Amino acid sequence: MKGKVRIMESAYTLANRELEEIRLKNKEKESIRHSEVLLKAPRLAEIESELMKQGTRLLKCVLNRCEDFEDIKGTIQGLQKEKSQLLIKNGFDENYLDDIYSCYECRDTGFVEGRRCECLKKLIVKNIGENSNLTEHMRKQRFENFDLSLFANQDDEGGHTLKVMQIVCDKALSFAETFDETKDNFLILGNAGTGKTFVTSCIGNRALERGKTVYYQTAFKLFEILENNKFNKVEEDLVDIVKYIYDVDLLIIDDLGTEFTTQFTLAALFDIINSRIISGKSTVISTNLNFEELSNTYSQRVTSRFMESYQLIQTVGKDLRTILKLRNKK
Ligand SMILES: [Zn+2]
Repeated sequence: MKGKVRIMESAYTLANRELEEIRLKNKEKESIRHSEVLLKAPRLAEIESELMKQGTRLLKCVLNRCEDFEDIKGTIQGLQKEKSQLLIKNGFDENYLDDIYSCYECRDTGFVEGRRCECLKKLIVKNIGENSNLTEHMRKQRFENFDLSLFANQDDEGGHTLKVMQIVCDKALSFAETFDETKDNFLILGNAGTGKTFVTSCIGNRALERGKTVYYQTAFKLFEILENNKFNKVEEDLVDIVKYIYDVDLLIIDDLGTEFTTQFTLAALFDIINSRIISGKSTVISTNLNFEELSNTYSQRVTSRFMESYQLIQTVGKDLRTILKLRNKK
């Protein structure tokens, strides 16, 4: 159940905790370096203690506007020079005892002039990615490596498959770029192996890159989670996953129609779809069923939500897994 407990915490909280760990590690490094220098050059302790004393004097002097200011400043500069020389004499770099930061832009605070530093943004995106439940393999499925040539030469008239898949790809990309503004949803229908999971992974990864929260789940597993939660066969963190299913920016339900359909799953599906439409959260669903089969399997209120609020996309062509296998053999 690794990973699940983390879902209840926001990616931001997790990122900040990592930043705190980074700061502690760097402090540890500094302290190790300090002991290392002291061992070789015990005079360092005296210099540092004197620097501290002079620092306090300088501060008082500034506050009381006394005349010794320049003198004290000179003493401090002298001591700092001696410290550098001491380091060099003992074979260290003159900056060896400076503060250590993993990010010098924000000095590991995560903020530059009140704005999130790039390093913090990266940590947040990383944590959202870990919460997304996309497998490592799926995390690599991106629009950049969407190989449309797979859909060419499928012995169809006028390259129909290729044309359709080009449109699917364009629509998916545009959806991934704008769903948080358009509040749009995406239902992708097609036979097994025609690239549906690939397209949904691409959408998920693009959304993650944009800093949106994403949760991927197969229909089979999704209903299992909801059922266990409902009927209390619970690990404690299940409640939070269920909350995440409702709240996440982008929910991806893969392979709708492969679950055991019961009164419970029918009601749960409607509730998720409907609640997410109402709260303006987008959902992507893929299915091997055609629309008629969907209508027969799910209630009319589910299919009417699909009609009203979803872009319906149909993939075409042969099973890509066969094509890929043939390709690899050549
Ligand atoms: Zn930074």
